[in-house]
Amino acid sequence: LEGRRGQPRLKPPFPATAGLYARPTVVNNVESVASVPQIINRGADWFTSMGTERSSGNGLFSLSGHVTRPGQYEAPLGITLRELIDMAGGMRNGHKLKFWTPGGSSTPIFTEEHLDVPLDYESVGAAGSMLGTRALQIFDETTSVVRAVTRWTEFYAHESCGKCTPCREGTYWLKQVLRRLEQGKGVEGDIETLLDTCDNILGRAFCALGDGATSCITSAIKYFREEFEAGMHTPASELFPPVRSALFEYTPKQRGALSGAGAH
Ligand code: SF4
Repeated sequence: LEGRRGQPRLKPPFPATAGLYARPTVVNNVESVASVPQIINRGADWFTSMGTERSSGNGLFSLSGHVTRPGQYEAPLGITLRELIDMAGGMRNGHKLKFWTPGGSSTPIFTEEHLDVPLDYESVGAAGSMLGTRALQIFDETTSVVRAVTRWTEFYAHESCGKCTPCREGTYWLKQVLRRLEQGKGVEGDIETLLDTCDNILGRAFCALGDGATSCITSAIKYFREEFEAGMHTPASELFPPVRSALFEYTPKQRGALSGAGAH
């Protein structure tokens, strides 16, 4: 809007004091604004009767991926993924939960063992992740963890604004290593390189994008290390054919392209 490069600025001053055109600027969260009428109509006690003591009220949970009915679900904070999946009609036919993000790809992934973690800020934090945006991406057993993490990392590398070196260089190299693991062409030490690179980004990047880029990688290696090890000899597309995890029907042309490329 100001005609400059899109890069984060040092804070303070915070945008509420000096934001767009150095004027006080507030960007309201639509969900917060939308909850105001119901609180006014029904009272604060009604609102705080939902949720947990420290994470009170209700909110939107966005379920995407391998559930029968993906969509936005309004529910009290503290609901579990098991209950949300029930609301969404269960996992897609005949499939089983493999991993999921509680708050989008920048939050550490969870697995089936976390199905009953209450989805409030404190409980998710105690279990090792973050509630973040409440964008719950659900993946079943047909999904390659390496492929999913590579796609996310390509996104972060693309979105990195380039202002600080750990994120600019780190996301680029994470992408390179992950791509060769996805293609089954990984080399000895790649997992250590990924972890070491993440360690050099985390806490050293200027904004949250850098930290967020590392979460999916370190947590995926923690829970699915064997899939990354398999990336040193077998393409992810052989172990987990993309046509099985796709949410849509491939055209014959797309199928041909996939079998030729070996990694999508
Ligand atoms: S962490 Fe990444 S996106 Fe954020 S300022 Fe640094 S280079 Fe830019």
